[in-house]
Amino acid sequence: MAGVLSGTLAACGSVHSGELRQQAAAVKGRAATPTPSPTPTAPPPRTVDCVHLKCVALTFDDGPGPYTDHLLDVLKGAGARATFFLLGENVGGHQAEVRRMVLEGHQIGNHSWSHPQLTGLSSAAVRSQVQRTQKAITEASGGVAPTLFRPPYGATNARVGKAVGMPEIVWDVDSLDWRYRNVARNVRVGTREPKKGSVVLFHDIHKTTVQAIPRVLAGLQKRGFTFVTVGELTAGRTLAAGHTFPAWS
Ligand SMILES: [Zn+2]
Repeated sequence: MAGVLSGTLAACGSVHSGELRQQAAAVKGRAATPTPSPTPTAPPPRTVDCVHLKCVALTFDDGPGPYTDHLLDVLKGAGARATFFLLGENVGGHQAEVRRMVLEGHQIGNHSWSHPQLTGLSSAAVRSQVQRTQKAITEASGGVAPTLFRPPYGATNARVGKAVGMPEIVWDVDSLDWRYRNVARNVRVGTREPKKGSVVLFHDIHKTTVQAIPRVLAGLQKRGFTFVTVGELTAGRTLAAGHTFPAWS
């Protein structure tokens, strides 16, 4: 009994002396052990009334890439949320950006692993493209799994939709930023073409796209738009697996 008691006291003694050492170190301005910073968490989901508000969903495909971090700064500065459709093969080199997207309230969607034309692949190969990417994004994002898919080139059909197993998000405004690589053109199209409820396609792997976004945001803001994620834009609707949104016109 005495042995147990002295053991307990000895343990307490060591804890106390450890605390004292820590306090002494703190007084000198150096903590003995760094204070763990709280784990950052994503902002709570927003409810945006896109029935009445003039909402627009800006979407950025094919990243993350070298300009994505700067784009996140630009979006943050404007208080704008967007949706990123990521390629699985690009996630590994840009895990910090993926984490940042989640922490800053953006939505992440799956855009396949390596951007093949899915209509030319077997269903098993489509599933592999989707599932490898789900895994990479979920790991990089700290556990947030995409619930939306964007087919590369917008190429899909009923068989692909079934193999994907998620709603497929396309667009109604195509900036063609990948073709023209022209900042002024991106600004003009990105500012003028969106309508209430539009889904706008951009690619953040192009410098000229990211360079245009500050003026696109300012121009759309001036037209009265609210920047939302695709999930916020479609809240209240049922987007089933295999469903394509918006409907191709
Ligand atoms: Zn793409």
